[in-house]
Amino acid sequence: VFAHVVKAPEDPILGVTIAYNKDPSPVKLNLGVGAYRTEEGKPLVLNVVRRAEQLLINDRQAKLSVLVSRVKEYLPIVGLAEFNKLSAKLMFGEDSPAIRKNRVTTVQCLSGTGSLRVGGEFLARHYHQKTIYIPQPTWGNHPKVFTLAGLSVKTYRYYDPATRGLNFKGLLEDLDSAPSGAIVLLHACAHNPTGVDPTPEQWEKIRQLMRSRKLMPFFDSAYQGFASGSLDVDAQAVRMFVADGGECLVAQSYAKNMGLYGERVGALSIVCNAADVASRVESQLKLVIRPMYSNPPIHGASIVATILRDKNMFNEWTVELKAMADRIITMRQKLFDALRARGTPGDWSHIIKQIGMFTFTGLNKEQVAFMTKEYHIYMTSDGRISMAGLSSKTVPHLADAIHAAVTR
Ligand code: PMP
Repeated sequence: VFAHVVKAPEDPILGVTIAYNKDPSPVKLNLGVGAYRTEEGKPLVLNVVRRAEQLLINDRQAKLSVLVSRVKEYLPIVGLAEFNKLSAKLMFGEDSPAIRKNRVTTVQCLSGTGSLRVGGEFLARHYHQKTIYIPQPTWGNHPKVFTLAGLSVKTYRYYDPATRGLNFKGLLEDLDSAPSGAIVLLHACAHNPTGVDPTPEQWEKIRQLMRSRKLMPFFDSAYQGFASGSLDVDAQAVRMFVADGGECLVAQSYAKNMGLYGERVGALSIVCNAADVASRVESQLKLVIRPMYSNPPIHGASIVATILRDKNMFNEWTVELKAMADRIITMRQKLFDALRARGTPGDWSHIIKQIGMFTFTGLNKEQVAFMTKEYHIYMTSDGRISMAGLSSKTVPHLADAIHAAVTR
């Protein structure tokens, strides 16, 4: 009965790794998937995460035992209460008035993707406008997540290939002509794939326009602390929108900033205009989550709560986070310098101007295919490279490949 099922194409991002794994070349380089690698090209588990896991295993205090993953009990539908509280503080700030007034409901979800999906389904059921505007371009999973959540997806102009920067005018025009109340997906920082973020002044203009047109902000925060190295700086856009007293949604991921990719730990916050509304919203979120996966996993959230609740561990985390962000910034400089040294035609300053894990190189599909075939360098066909996958040793190889691709 399943014989008619046709083979589906690979996911465009995860498919890059599959192709990479099949390549026997010793010089092959995977710059496709957005996961941090050390200078040695190895995945990194943060020391503070290891320390939290040790604590969770060894802890014998009754106080902790209700939350530690050692007991392997089910969590409630909305996840670990302390994790939710601490995640909201991390996002909105230690003394956020919205939190103090209980206007925020936060539920633990399956990393950033799960938070987006739960938020999307909530909006499809309970919000009057079913259209969500996503930036052009955006993370490839966004349109699929929101379509399956029951929303209708449209795009707004974001990136200008000519300047390799923000198309601010186009963005404002498109949001201004969106129907009143429409949902707008915003990358909180380190826009994926372009690495192009609005300036604080531009964010303020976006905020004013969106509030006056009653557009609903849905922030995707997958890189807090990873872009600038500062958790607070990377939360500024979100906090600007929360400070005006209006509503918004935020999907948070700990995949990159704590290196907890496979633990699938994240949170969805919905900022409401009153405490009683937030409490009713939470009751409805439970009805979204329960038939979807019942309740979220315990281990990753216990690690995060253990780190966020303890001053020393929190500080240790920020140091390790800054080191990851700094290594990426160094890679940007090294790649830029290497291209300049080769006299590669073109202005490559966007490599050092762009923010976060990715560089949107401007290389076209044919150039990418050439680099994969001749240099065994793997990346998405839109020319996006993960700077986190690069090291001082591999920069020259990549620079050679880019040089060959553009002078061919
Ligand atoms: N949003 C954006 C913009 C991302 O880049 C990612 C990760 N690539 C995610 C969400 C979700 O990641 P995860 O589900 O692993 O937290």
